[in-house]
Amino acid sequence: MADAAGAGVDRKGYGMAGKVLIVTGGSRGIGAAVCRQAAVAGWDVAVNYAGNAEAAEKTASAVKAAGRRAIVVQGDMAEEADILRLFEATERDLGPIGGVVCNAGITGKITRVEDMTTEAMRQVMGLNVIGLMIANREAVRRLSTKRGGAGGAIVNLSSIAPRIGSANEFVHYAASKGAVDAWTLGLSREVAGEGVRVNAVAPGMIDTDIHATAGVPDRAHRLGSMVPIGRAGTAEEVAEAVVWLLSDAARYCIGTILNVNGGR
Ligand code: NAP
Repeated sequence: MADAAGAGVDRKGYGMAGKVLIVTGGSRGIGAAVCRQAAVAGWDVAVNYAGNAEAAEKTASAVKAAGRRAIVVQGDMAEEADILRLFEATERDLGPIGGVVCNAGITGKITRVEDMTTEAMRQVMGLNVIGLMIANREAVRRLSTKRGGAGGAIVNLSSIAPRIGSANEFVHYAASKGAVDAWTLGLSREVAGEGVRVNAVAPGMIDTDIHATAGVPDRAHRLGSMVPIGRAGTAEEVAEAVVWLLSDAARYCIGTILNVNGGR
């Protein structure tokens, strides 16, 4: 009997050969690992970055080394005009998109709420929530079969932060990722019947530059031993989950928040 459930699925690379993927914040950390692994799985990749052009070029070189096409697009993913320009540049240079990974995110500096500036709150919400919403909207406008698109997948980067609250560190960040979870669930149900799958990955303590940017460079190493598995995770371990959710192997996943957290 034919394996109807597995028909058409490339189980080797979870691949969607020839598809075009946008990765926001693809220059470093989890986003860069997603770009590299997506290329191996058959995606051409638009690598977005904010300020680190060198890191973005390095990621793009890795995509090309895997035999796929890559472009590098600078843009602040908190700014609507930059988000629109990223989508337009990708379509112009690589063709119609099949997937978007909304990965660009910041924690803000570690601080208690009583000392938090309004500007810090706006920055975290502006990128992690509003920018992600705009990018998701632009993806749906292009992917939805209701609007003439061919369908596709969106993966948002959430966090365990909404579950633990991140007290004394970055409560505004935890709140922003809680918004990402609610948005992912709602949007996923809105467009599930239009060929668009929206899911999220919620990493735990991952060893990237994000901790140094928050003001505590050794945070992942110092707190890694408190994670049930006994260590911080790697960007590659998170990227595995993202690339799987992008793939047709995850075709029945809608509104999933996939935890990748070592048991934390
Ligand atoms: P990271 O190492 O600090 O890298 C951040 C990436 O986002 C860089 O490529 C950076 O670009 C880009 N970026 C920052 N601000 C941007 C902006 N305004 N516009 C466009 N791109 C921007 O971060 P990460 O640890 O890989 O985190 C990636 C995602 O995973 C975030 O959403 C984060 O909240 C989430 N996450 C991380 C952890 C963790 O422990 N690391 C845990 C849970 C969730 P440049 O290189 O140009 O600066």
